Amino acid sequence: YMFGQKKATEVAHLIWKLVVQKGDTVVDATCGNGNDTLALAKLVVDDVAKGCVYGMDIQDDAIQNTSSLLDQSLDRNQRKYVKLFSICHSRMVEVLPKNISVRLVAFNLGYLPGGDKGLITNSATTLLALKAAKELLLPGGIISVVAYVGHPGGREEYEIVRSFAAELPADKWVCSHIQMLNKPLAPVLVFLFKR
Ligand code: SAM
Repeated sequence: YMFGQKKATEVAHLIWKLVVQKGDTVVDATCGNGNDTLALAKLVVDDVAKGCVYGMDIQDDAIQNTSSLLDQSLDRNQRKYVKLFSICHSRMVEVLPKNISVRLVAFNLGYLPGGDKGLITNSATTLLALKAAKELLLPGGIISVVAYVGHPGGREEYEIVRSFAAELPADKWVCSHIQMLNKPLAPVLVFLFKR
């Protein structure tokens, strides 16, 4: 049973596979150690399809970790189609090509595993980034959020994401979340699908 054995991020990857196609442009708004960026690169780029992943993180260390994971795990051709930026995700529009639309924007909130726990996503910039992502998304695209509620500020940040989603018009958006009812501190998955 998929929710029993898999981590929240793995469940998110399963949903991505249903939506993302080879050749798509996608955004990883929180690269961290690069696991999500790598998963996305494998979904959009192959020998024929030249999709593109735009990855960002506010920490240079995270961008370096992501870059070395990609260097190790992708061939040189695939690696060319992942662009990384040390920038706050609220500014994602500045690093994307003009007028581009994207299939997916992924957020994995919180802090860098193994890094400085003070450098954490926060409600204000997360909300700005969600608003930017909403404008960039193609019909048939998805915003995916993994929100952590176990650390200080995490629950508040999740509530911001939740109310942003709850206010989107139901004729244009299908918004859902997955929450572990018997594990209240487990990460919450939020998916905003644009019709
Ligand atoms: N996706 C990552 C992976 O697969 O390893 C894990 C991401 S980690 C949970 C959250 C990341 O968000 C951290 O690396 C942190 O530096 C980054 N971050 C925090 N605030 C940010 C912001 N305003 N803009 C972009 N990234 C931010």
